[in-house]
Amino acid sequence: MNRKIDDDSIIVPGIPVVISGPSGVGKGTIIATLVERHQEISVSVSMTSRPPRPGERDHVDYIFVDRRTFLRHIEEGSLLEWAEVYGQLYGTPKAPLLRNLEAGRDVIMAIDVQGGVSVRKNFPSACLIFVLPPSRDDLEARLRRRGTESEEEMRQRLEKVDWELTFLRHYDYLVVNRSVDRAAEQIRTIIQAERCRRQHLEPVLRKAGILPELPPDPTRDS
Ligand code: 5GP
Repeated sequence: MNRKIDDDSIIVPGIPVVISGPSGVGKGTIIATLVERHQEISVSVSMTSRPPRPGERDHVDYIFVDRRTFLRHIEEGSLLEWAEVYGQLYGTPKAPLLRNLEAGRDVIMAIDVQGGVSVRKNFPSACLIFVLPPSRDDLEARLRRRGTESEEEMRQRLEKVDWELTFLRHYDYLVVNRSVDRAAEQIRTIIQAERCRRQHLEPVLRKAGILPELPPDPTRDS
């Protein structure tokens, strides 16, 4: 067989990418920039029991459901992971995520740190990226500029940062958001590198007959 990697029938599965970081760090803007520039990357639309904020669209920003419906989805096992954040339920629908990955699309999940840890359990090969602000003052200033939270909600979100940082050890990459462009390109580069990871690509190339069956490991004594 003389097949090539650009044969249309050879699909390299997409990379599941978790992006977490403190509220107000700019994850939303970075992700929007990334998917606008790179059509092969898609974003998982989470389900939430939180009511929509002005301007948010159902099935675009979130799938908005009531708490009872959310709990039914947990029971049915249709969520890959879920967590309670600021008193509301948030979760990642499993079916569209798996469909996109199988079709070779990289999928970004913008989820909290508890969700990141659950994804790692279900998908040991997932790529976990944590976005950091250039400074603490910068984070507070961004939250204020965004103006979507009340003073009390803002205080809660800032207080939570130290707890979120204790989850850093579960993450593979850190991206500091000095500029949206730079952070988006760094994430794109990370995804490209993950696609080339031997553990990801080798099984696909073997299955397609591009690589021969595994020869004996010459470094091991027989
Ligand atoms: P917000 O209400 O500001 O849109 O989101 C609040 C928090 O919920 C953010 O930290 C966001 O990353 C997290 N979040 C959004 N969707 C999901 C999800 O599907 N699963 C988990 N675990 N967290 C999520």
